[in-house]
Amino acid sequence: MNIANQAKTLGFVASGLSRSEKPLFFDTFCAWVDAGKTGRMAWLNRHRNLREDPGRLLPKCQTIISLAYPYSPEKPCTPEGFTMARYSEPQKKDYHDRVRKKAKRLASQIMASYPDSKTRVCVDSAPILERSFAYRSGMGFLGKNNMLIVPGHGSYVFLAEILTTASLPLGDSGPMEDLCGSCTRCLDACPTGALEGPRRLDASRCLSYLTIEHGGDVDPETGEKMGRCFLGCDVCQEVCPFNRVEKANAVSLPGIGEFLKMDDETFKTRFGQTALARPGLERIQRNIKMVLV
Ligand code: SF4
Ligand code: SF4
Repeated sequence: MNIANQAKTLGFVASGLSRSEKPLFFDTFCAWVDAGKTGRMAWLNRHRNLREDPGRLLPKCQTIISLAYPYSPEKPCTPEGFTMARYSEPQKKDYHDRVRKKAKRLASQIMASYPDSKTRVCVDSAPILERSFAYRSGMGFLGKNNMLIVPGHGSYVFLAEILTTASLPLGDSGPMEDLCGSCTRCLDACPTGALEGPRRLDASRCLSYLTIEHGGDVDPETGEKMGRCFLGCDVCQEVCPFNRVEKANAVSLPGIGEFLKMDDETFKTRFGQTALARPGLERIQRNIKMVLV
């Protein structure tokens, strides 16, 4: 079977294969965690043995299929012009469910072609260094903003993996060359200095982490750095010349007054199945108050 063609038919913009082995960036990842750059995301320090060897996630794993599924370049926006990061797609079901369904269909096709094989689909659901495998497969390169960039499409993609015990032929494509060149737009534009250098992120200063993952109080000065975006941050992707497709904001969110008055039940009914459920109403309301200061 032709994995790339099947993946395209399912809507993935890029795919690539690599062997199940220690990820290229495993040591870099461990050094990053050990340097305390992960904020309070304690889970990143767990399961190093699983991250080092995908064969521990799926016994006898031979091949990892990396997949990139696109999200809309339109930025969700309230009627007043306050925004959320693009990945959130608040009018759609949580991307984990949508992308998983697509990847599972591809996994079924693989198992039909390799009847004795086993597969495991991962969409942020297992400790695996997904960008490292995606890069190793040759489907894109790692930008200085730490994102996987698919030439011709950009970095507005969700990543997923299919682990399989089938030993699929890899072809002869190695990792893609670094196409950033002398550009430093993302490093220069990061509002908090979280990008300390090329591919060196201090997550504890990153607005995506602070507005989505971080509970409790946030330094009041952070609100100014957020501009009008109250969930996540797209700045280091917006300035990237590989994300040229600029689309206007899409008014797909309630007004901020409505958000601030919203109760848990209403939020659950309206956004409980979406990516907004992860940060939750309380954190979203906290963030709105920060951008209003
Ligand atoms: S998401 Fe925003 S805060 Fe985080 S590194 Fe990129 S530009 Fe900086
Ligand atoms: S903005 Fe420039 S340096 Fe940053 S990821 Fe894009 S091309 Fe690379």
